[in-house]
Amino acid sequence: MTAATARTFLITGVSSGLGRAFAEAALQAGHQVIGTVRKDTDAEAFSALAPDRAYPLVLDVTCFDAIPQAVADAERKAGPIDVLVNNAGYGQEGALEESSMDDAQRQFAANVFGPIAMIKAVLPGMRARRKGHIVNVTSMGGFITMPGLSLYCGSKFALEGVSEALSKEVAGLGIKVTALAPGQFRTDWAGRSMDRAARSIADYDDVMNPLRSARIAKSGRQPGDPAKAAQALLTLVEAPTPPTRLFLGEDALSLVERKLESMKDEITEWEDLSRSTSFTS
Ligand code: NAP
Repeated sequence: MTAATARTFLITGVSSGLGRAFAEAALQAGHQVIGTVRKDTDAEAFSALAPDRAYPLVLDVTCFDAIPQAVADAERKAGPIDVLVNNAGYGQEGALEESSMDDAQRQFAANVFGPIAMIKAVLPGMRARRKGHIVNVTSMGGFITMPGLSLYCGSKFALEGVSEALSKEVAGLGIKVTALAPGQFRTDWAGRSMDRAARSIADYDDVMNPLRSARIAKSGRQPGDPAKAAQALLTLVEAPTPPTRLFLGEDALSLVERKLESMKDEITEWEDLSRSTSFTS
């Protein structure tokens, strides 16, 4: 890789899973990576991947006030950020009624407000340079929905909406924005990272019990390969005109196509009522 094409990535959540795979692939391709972690031991492990080009940053993305200074410090060490990958996040599983307001606030803090704070921290530099790419890792659950994941899906729908609208705000400033929406990938998402609300309402047994046990059984056997997702990320950031939204995985594609068809059918079925609400003159 020549100095002209080597980029500086800022990737949140590089301790495991997709973030780790993104960071490893970017480093292997000759880029520099500033990677956020929450533990000092993870910082040491990340730095060891490429001591001259892997810059660990200990940061919880829900510590919004710490983010501007942390990003400024990282840029002083590693140089201007070309690509922000808002990857850090987790799944909150539980029937909505069984989940607390604290569960809801924590989910949106990590999956929506943290990424927004990261975006706000990199935008001044990207605007000044008239270039940059913001990649927000959403989910197929930010387009299709699954019972038992209403807070998670809600947070990823929110990040999708933020990404799409932001892409229109900054396109004229040379900044690209992509929502990267994975299907099921083999990471710690459904294992150690998942927050599961305690079961408390028997009326939800029929919906929640099979879902919860199936997700636990499938953890570690998901079809998506994080290393292949990382190669897709590298292809995405090289594209002269990257998409606003990119799904990753056969499962994501087929579920999204099914949802698009059923949305179209429902819109058509209710079209007359939808059209009936304008003033007549
Ligand atoms: P993972 O292996 O559990 O990795 C999650 C990463 O996010 C970890 O590095 C974790 O750090 C970090 N993180 C979580 N909360 C954080 C916070 N408040 N501040 C800073 N870092 C935080 O799971 P993953 O699958 O790679 O998840 C990465 C992203 O992909 C998430 O946004 C997830 O929602 C999304 N996604 C995953 C899948 C899938 O099937 N795997 C599908 C669709 C979308 P610690 O190590 O400190 O916990």
